[in-house]
Amino acid sequence: MSKTRPTVNVNGIDYRWPLRPVVVVCIDGGDPAYLRQFLADGSIPNIARFVREGYATVVDGSMPSFTCPNNMSIITGTPTSKHGISGNFYLDTATWEPVVMTGPELLRGDTIITKFAEAGAKVVSITAKDKLRKQLSKGLDVSKGHVSFSTEFVEKCTMAENGIENALEWLGMEKPGMYSMELSLFVLEAGIKLLKERRPELLYLSLTDWVQHKWAPDEEGARTFYRRLDDCIGRLAALDATVALTADHGMNDKSNAAGEPNVIWLQDILDAKFGKGETTVICPITDAFVAHHGALGGFVRVWSRGKVTARQIIDHIGGIDGIELALDKDTACRMFDMPADREADVAVVSRQDVCIGGSAGNHDLSGLKGHRLRTHGGVSETKVPFVLNRPLNDAYKAKAASETLKSYQIFDFAVNGTL
Ligand SMILES: [Zn+2]
Repeated sequence: MSKTRPTVNVNGIDYRWPLRPVVVVCIDGGDPAYLRQFLADGSIPNIARFVREGYATVVDGSMPSFTCPNNMSIITGTPTSKHGISGNFYLDTATWEPVVMTGPELLRGDTIITKFAEAGAKVVSITAKDKLRKQLSKGLDVSKGHVSFSTEFVEKCTMAENGIENALEWLGMEKPGMYSMELSLFVLEAGIKLLKERRPELLYLSLTDWVQHKWAPDEEGARTFYRRLDDCIGRLAALDATVALTADHGMNDKSNAAGEPNVIWLQDILDAKFGKGETTVICPITDAFVAHHGALGGFVRVWSRGKVTARQIIDHIGGIDGIELALDKDTACRMFDMPADREADVAVVSRQDVCIGGSAGNHDLSGLKGHRLRTHGGVSETKVPFVLNRPLNDAYKAKAASETLKSYQIFDFAVNGTL
């Protein structure tokens, strides 16, 4: 690859032309506790080598600690206040209807892969779930040899929409189930094959957190997944690539000693105090695949119809055991760098061992099937790994030493910061 190619500016950051292919892997729900466990017991030798020979630390992701906001932060290199995707849903106060926030039209600014594609690079973006795909490849013209698809809809890939077709035959794998570790491993296998065959400059591989919702770091299922993940990561690195690992959010157990979820049913509490219809609780973790978390997370938003003030809501719920923070819009946006136009009157964060739901009747917890509830969304799930297989250059060593790093700097560090 030519080193004389121009730098590519994306949302105010200059990225040099990659010296070798750069692969960023977002280990969905990849709480640092998993890496700590498996580094200690020797289950992940390739990642252990990265930690030894490259660069590894733990950084903060974006709030709320959900999948969409953090994937968009990583792919744009910006906080949620800039890119605007602060959850899977927000409430449109004109219609009082929840609006799904996964459309590319709601994403502000450019993605790093699209800007590189426009500058002449080959790029690849593969996700486990399709809900992220369109936003991640916003503005990407796949007819120019780029690839963008999801495992979820792999059998429907077309050249026009995805830049690849007959993807299952090409990869020689069966389509995995939506609730399986193979859904994530498929993303990595496809990335490895594309890297081998096409040598794209940039690859973004985004997994799913089914494993982490289901198993704690000390459970065998988690170890099996991380062993297989580590094998894939090792094969990516062996193809002379810069490999960077991070996560969108962490994961915590939010069940009590009896194994039942520790839930605060916030809509029920607010309705009892202020009357039905006066406030609306939105759980922005909600998506079509809720079996593994019952749409319960560590962060919710409360909108008032107008009669009840933010102060009254905060005064009523701020002292509830398990509520870590209840913040008015301005404070929440300032503290967590979130977009004000999509923020509620009150933002509510739960403690590490507690989650928040709307009304008890609206959440189906049958999908947990005897499993302890593990979920995310709060401040306690913002810590994520930040691992590079290559050492930092001097400029980025200095940057790492003087700044509080964020996970959305992973492309910056992988492209600009490695030897
Ligand atoms: Zn996630």
